[in-house]
Amino acid sequence: MDYEGQICRAPMERASFMLPVAVGCSYNQCKFCTLFKHLKYRELPVWQVEDELKRVKNMGGCPKKIFLGDGNAFGLKTSRLLEILELIRQYFPEFEMVNMDATVTNIRMKSDKELRMLYDAGVRHLYLGIESGLDDVLTFMCKDHNLAEVYEAIERLQAAGMIYDAHMMTGAAGQGRGLENAEHIAKFFNKTRPGRIINFSMFLHEEAPLYKEIAAGRFIPADELENLREERKLIELLNVDSLEYDGFHDFIKYRVRGKLPRDRRKMLSSLDTCINRYENKEKSYAYIYAPQSVPQNISVEDVWCPCKEGDS
Ligand code: SF4
Repeated sequence: MDYEGQICRAPMERASFMLPVAVGCSYNQCKFCTLFKHLKYRELPVWQVEDELKRVKNMGGCPKKIFLGDGNAFGLKTSRLLEILELIRQYFPEFEMVNMDATVTNIRMKSDKELRMLYDAGVRHLYLGIESGLDDVLTFMCKDHNLAEVYEAIERLQAAGMIYDAHMMTGAAGQGRGLENAEHIAKFFNKTRPGRIINFSMFLHEEAPLYKEIAAGRFIPADELENLREERKLIELLNVDSLEYDGFHDFIKYRVRGKLPRDRRKMLSSLDTCINRYENKEKSYAYIYAPQSVPQNISVEDVWCPCKEGDS
């Protein structure tokens, strides 16, 4: 099957069989996100999903873990998801789990009974884009949820037996608010107990709606040193057993990962080394675009872009 869009899934799902069931994201409004802005959302017909299962089966595939794409596959109607899960069972009766991305609205649109039926049919991990622990940030970024709604949605999916995993972004709260966000999101995670946290530290992309906010001075981005300090504070405060954590700062080629609380000391020490490297240096921002389009309030030298990849 030809894949449309940009593949973006948690590193823990890299070995899973990626089975697209939709193109794009049915929400597609988060201000920082560029993954699917160029695509018109549509569900793939079941025959096309089945063709892909057949193709993999005919090649001798026997996946145990299957990841349904794309941006929020959990938004499909329950009847459609159950139909797809039944097909998966027909082609790969020994599969162990089906995982996918979900928005909070997707969960809120399903009844407790539907959540339980989906669990019984094999759904296990739902990845939610939590992004920030601050309500005003969620509103500003046009997320589809506030914190009260996420708490409720997570409680319901956990009651149905599913595991929730969190996507977040250091830097989401903007300049000067990294530590505040770390404290709030740590409190949120400590209460809701995700199985995994994936932190894709914020990228600032000229095609994202957020770019206009930066250019207009309504959002002042944090530099990468502040993002690293935010992450350090978060790891210090996380208090969830057997939590898998994976944090990416791609543009400075830094990644910190491990299992908490076991690896906390090692992870903090790695962060300290990286923070030392960026202290007393010119600020670096994870902008992705041509230097001529840098907003006026940011110096061109501060900007990271793919053509300067060797710089950092
Ligand atoms: S829900 Fe996810 S994929 Fe959809 S716009 Fe928001 S961040 Fe992007």
